[in-house]
Amino acid sequence: MSEKFDVIVVGAGASGNAAAYTLAKSGLKVLQLERGETSGAKNVQGAILYADALERIIPDFREEAPLERHIIEQRMWVMDERSYVGSHFRSDDFNKPPYNRYTIIRAKFDKWFSDKVKEAGALVICETTVKTLLRDDAGKVIGVEVDRIDGKIYADLVILADGVNSTLARKAGFRPELDPKHVALAVKEIHFLPKDVIESRFNIQDEEGVVIEMMGKITHGMMGTGFLYTNSDSISVGVGCLLSDFMTQKITPYQLLEQLKAHPSVAPMLEGGEMKEYAAHLIPEGGYHAIPQIYGDGWMIVGDSGMFVNAVHREGSNLAMTTGRIAAETAIELGRAGKAMSAANLALYRKRLDDSFVIKDLKKYKDLPELLDNNKQFLTTYPELLNRSAYAMLKVDGEDKRSKQKDIYRGFRAERSLFGLLGDAYKLWRAFR
Ligand SMILES: Cc1cc2nc3c(=O)[nH]c(=O)nc-3n(C[C@H](O)[C@H](O)[C@H](O)COP(=O)(O)OP(=O)(O)OC[C@H]3O[C@@H](n4cnc5c(N)ncnc54)[C@H](O)[C@@H]3O)c2cc1C
Repeated sequence: MSEKFDVIVVGAGASGNAAAYTLAKSGLKVLQLERGETSGAKNVQGAILYADALERIIPDFREEAPLERHIIEQRMWVMDERSYVGSHFRSDDFNKPPYNRYTIIRAKFDKWFSDKVKEAGALVICETTVKTLLRDDAGKVIGVEVDRIDGKIYADLVILADGVNSTLARKAGFRPELDPKHVALAVKEIHFLPKDVIESRFNIQDEEGVVIEMMGKITHGMMGTGFLYTNSDSISVGVGCLLSDFMTQKITPYQLLEQLKAHPSVAPMLEGGEMKEYAAHLIPEGGYHAIPQIYGDGWMIVGDSGMFVNAVHREGSNLAMTTGRIAAETAIELGRAGKAMSAANLALYRKRLDDSFVIKDLKKYKDLPELLDNNKQFLTTYPELLNRSAYAMLKVDGEDKRSKQKDIYRGFRAERSLFGLLGDAYKLWRAFR
């Protein structure tokens, strides 16, 4: 293979498919390389699909994409070992087409997206791993070398959409080694149940869906969250925590998931289900400060490889698709203007991301990862106090409510002191403002 392409896209996940589709649709000669057997074979997600990002790439995707349920209700549970204090938001506005968020199963969805990439005219080759980037004497990226005989392939531009590990970017020196504080290790299972059982358990019908995000003592003080999402005839359940936390704790991700599933509020939702799929994957959660250099002479980085995940809102695939699309649009525009794929010209990609929700949102929460890492009380003490307080106030036992309120206040002060409480409130306000 010594053919030359306009663009080579490495990886066929959400970001790579978005980039390859946009590029091929514009008429460019595109090669997409994927190491998995098929697109999506190695990809893991909860998975919530945010329609807006895909709609900007394939406006009529709802007509044919394999979607599970549209989400009409989001629950947020702050948990201790036996209970949760929760907020549930359910709205009929989310139940009117065009729906805004869906649950999906990545293996099915990625296969569909990959077929669209092929239809748009890109050459997609699976079971092919890119080993290294090819560079000229000046250091400009001029192609890739794959794990096949005569595996050198050339292009004007290489887009790295190779996911959170991005061995290529690290090997090329574009990105530092993964910092265990910047990645979460998540595990996930899919439990199959009859459609009508899911609908009666979650008070939904037809294609309506419910998602639950969970935090608190379920992660043993580690920075992380759990989730439970309804699909058509299955439930996805998972949990993820920072790798650095797992390294210092005695519990494994698998044990953490087993405990989450056994929680008295979670177990009844999964009861009778048949577990058919188990997967583990890293999630880049370092936020704004972890974003590496994302462009250079002849290359751009998109998606998880560029650490584009908003862990606060559990958004990743939409940032992946948006960065993939914007990178592609930048290349198309430069090509049409007859400009070279140089670092100076590709700087436009970063500028466009700076102006988009991607960087604006990551910037907004830039201090949160460090804040939570240094203040574990938000993940342990407060969830426990909240649950204890709710239990005390709601239990009718002959004690008057004012005395209970005083006890609760004393409990908070005993755990955090007045200055501690005020300090924590200020820290949270600063991190979320
Ligand atoms: C448990 C879990 C739950 C999540 N839940 C959600 C959610 O509900 N909603 C959401 O929006 N996001 C969620 N995310 C995040 C989301 O999955 C990612 O942000 C998104 O998949 C990133 O897409 P990507 O294309 O950048 O990377 P990936 O989807 O990881 O794709 C990278 C691709 O590159 C290929 N590849 C890697 N190296 C090479 C190479 N050298 N040569 C060829 N191919 C290569 C891989 O095989 C893979 O197919 C979740 C993540 C996890 C792990």
